[in-house]
Amino acid sequence: MEFNQGDTIAAISTPAGEAGISVVRLSGPEAVAVARRVFRGGFPVESHTVAYGHVVDPLSRETLDEVLLTVFKAPRSYTREDLIEIGCHGGSVVAKSVLRALLRAGARAAAAGEFTARAFLNGRIDLAQSEAVLDLIRSRTGTAAAAALAQVRGGLSSAVGDIRAEVIGIAARIEAGIDFPDEVGSALSEALSERLRAAINGVERLLETGERGRILREGLRVALAGLPNVGKSSLLNAILREERAIVTDVPGTTRDVIEESASISGIPVVLVDMAGVRDTLDTVERIGVERARAEISEAGVVVVVLDDSQGITSGDERLISDVCAGSRPVVVAVNKTDLGVGRVVDDDVRRIAGDALRIGRIVRVSARTGGGLEDLERAILAAMGGGAAAGPAGAGRVEGGPGGVVVTRLRHLDALERAKAALLESLGIVEECLPVDLASAALYDAVESLGEITGETAGEDIVDRIFSEFCVGK
Ligand code: GDP
Repeated sequence: MEFNQGDTIAAISTPAGEAGISVVRLSGPEAVAVARRVFRGGFPVESHTVAYGHVVDPLSRETLDEVLLTVFKAPRSYTREDLIEIGCHGGSVVAKSVLRALLRAGARAAAAGEFTARAFLNGRIDLAQSEAVLDLIRSRTGTAAAAALAQVRGGLSSAVGDIRAEVIGIAARIEAGIDFPDEVGSALSEALSERLRAAINGVERLLETGERGRILREGLRVALAGLPNVGKSSLLNAILREERAIVTDVPGTTRDVIEESASISGIPVVLVDMAGVRDTLDTVERIGVERARAEISEAGVVVVVLDDSQGITSGDERLISDVCAGSRPVVVAVNKTDLGVGRVVDDDVRRIAGDALRIGRIVRVSARTGGGLEDLERAILAAMGGGAAAGPAGAGRVEGGPGGVVVTRLRHLDALERAKAALLESLGIVEECLPVDLASAALYDAVESLGEITGETAGEDIVDRIFSEFCVGK
C-alpha cells in the first residue's frame, strides 16, 4: 500500500445504511481549497469552528445537501493535516453525492485506514496507538473498549518506551565501558546486571497481562460439559437471558457444538455447549469424547453440569475425574435445585475430583428459575486465571499490568518475547564477564523488538498490514 501524503484524501467515515447524519472527511494540504470549491456558505476561518451551508456539485452547480462543515487546521487535527468534516444528512445517496463532489473538486478517494495512517506517519500517534484505534472500534464489551482506549491514550506505548529508553541507556553504558576498558570490573557488571534484571522484569510484567489481553480480544471460552439432560442448553440460555448484553452470535463450528457470545460483568465470554454429548454414551465413547476432550482442553474454564434430581451417576463420575485430570480450571454447577431433591452432595464431588487443584467452586443453580446464576458467573470469572484476574470482590475486572496496561495483541506479545530473550542473553553475557560488546549486540536486538511495538523499527510490511485491517474513512 502506498500512502502518498501529498494528496488530499476524502471518504465517508460513517457506516453505510440509513442514519440521521453521515460524516464525510477530507484531509491533506488542499483540504480547505477543495472544500471551498463545493461549499456555499460562510466558510469557517478559525480552526475548530463549524459553519452551516450547502454542498454543491462543482461541475453541475446542483445543490446536493444542507450541511455543517467543521474545520480542523494542521497540526491540531486527527491526521495533523488540514482536516475538514462535513456532516450531511444520513443515508448512502446523500453522503455519496457529497463525496463525489469532493472528488470532482480535486480530492482522491482514501484507502482503508489512510486517515489513521497519516496520523501515524505524521507522528501524532505511534503504531501501538493506531492498532488500539482499530481495537476500540471493534470492541465488543465495555471492558475491552476501556483497555483499547488506555492504549489509544498511549499507556502501552509509554510502558514500552520507558523500557526501551532504559535498554538504550544500558547499551550506552556498556559502550562507554568499551571505550574506557579500565572501568570494566565487577562493580560495573553488577550495576549493569541489576539494571538488566529490572528491564527484564518490566517486560515480564507486560507479558503477564497477555492472557487477560487474549480474553479481552477473543472472549473467555467457557465449555459446558455434562451428560445428556442435565440442563446444559437450559443453563446456556439462562445465562444469555440474564446477561442482556449479548454481543454477537458466533456460528457453531460444527453441528455438535453450539457457541454463543455473551458478556459477564464486561468480560467477553464464549459459551460452548457440547451438544454432541447428547448422543448415547456408546456413541460418545466412540466419537464424541474426542470432540469433547478437544473442546475442554481449549476452554478457559470448564463448567461441569450435574443434575441435582438424579444425583451423581457413573457417567458423571467419569466426566468429573476426566475433566479434573485436565489442565483447565473447573467449576461445578449443580443444576435443577428448584426441584428440591438434593441428591448431589458437595463432598462426593470433591472426593471424585480427588486432589485435583483444578476444581474451583461448586455452585447450586436452577436454569429454570435463574437461581444461583450470579454465583455461577462469579465462580467462572474467579476460576479464570486462577482467580487472579477477577476475585470475588473484583469480579469482572480485568486488571492491567504496569499503569493498567493490558497487552492484547499477539504482535506485541511476540515482540516482547523476543525482547525478553535478547535481554536474558545480554544478562548472561554480563554475568559471565564475557566481552561486553557481545552484550551490546543483544541489547540492540531488544531495542529493535521493543521499537516494533511502537513503530520506530517496524518494517513497511508490518505497517501496511496493520492499516489494511482498517475500514475506509478511519
Ligand atoms: P442438556 O441435554 O444437558 O442440554 O439438557 P437440557 O437443557 O436440554 O435440559 C434437559 C431437561 O431438563 C429439559 O426438559 C429441561 O427443561 C430440564 N431442565 C433443565 N434445567 C432445569 C432446571 O433448572 N430445573 C428443572 N426443573 N428442569 C430443568
